[in-house]
Amino acid sequence: MPDRKPLISGNWKMNLNHFEALKLVQELSYQVSTDDIEVVDISLHPPFTDIRTVQTVLEADRLPFHLGAQHCYHEDSGAFTGEVSAGMLSKLNVSYVLAGHSERREVFGESDEMVNLKVKAILKNEMLPILCCGETLEEREADEAESKVAGQIVAGLSGLSPEQVGSMVCAYEPIWAIGTGKTASSEDAQSMCAVVRQTVRENFGDEAADAVRIQYGGSVKPDNAPELMSQPDIDGALVGGACLEAESFGRIIQYRLVEAE
Ligand code: PEP
Repeated sequence: MPDRKPLISGNWKMNLNHFEALKLVQELSYQVSTDDIEVVDISLHPPFTDIRTVQTVLEADRLPFHLGAQHCYHEDSGAFTGEVSAGMLSKLNVSYVLAGHSERREVFGESDEMVNLKVKAILKNEMLPILCCGETLEEREADEAESKVAGQIVAGLSGLSPEQVGSMVCAYEPIWAIGTGKTASSEDAQSMCAVVRQTVRENFGDEAADAVRIQYGGSVKPDNAPELMSQPDIDGALVGGACLEAESFGRIIQYRLVEAE
């Protein structure tokens, strides 16, 4: 059984100003123990305006969270009003960047090609992409979930080496489960994460497929995290709503303690 350290990521979306960010990070630091971070990686993905503040507190207090971002633009610099480059994030010691979140795809029209350029820019700047994929309810009902997700993975990873793919993270997030309180059953989440891994296997080989970490996202909460995390192809969680409170995010990070009860 390949040894993949789980990654639990908190996607703050467009929530919390930099004062509120500081408070949440400090509260979270009281929830999480050194035992936790030996077995789980944790990344925090605040809005751009909070990143420097969060970086400063993580480094000053040596807090065990990886800094993440929610988006970047694929060009290095230039006339791209409102955008932030991967290089700018890497200078702030950002480690993980989301790519292809369904809200970016749906609200901001990001295509598979743009997502692929973003994944490449993130890797070029020595950070790790979290490549998101997932189907709509209509696609699930039309039995198109697997082909949709496999297509997004193939397109998002196009042109990468097996080593690059093995180092990164994919997140399966059924769109109908994001922010709705509806979670995929652990069986459905497992079988779709297995589709992601199989797609990586067919395109990049066994080593990449065994190494790539695959998160589930979509209304992950403290009470459903233990069962989701016990699935063989689920190596972490991408958490939206429940990461905005230290107590609930802390309990998700400590999913294994519930399992052991
Ligand atoms: C997300 O933002 O990726 C997400 C899964 O949100 P939520 O946990 O609120 O469904």
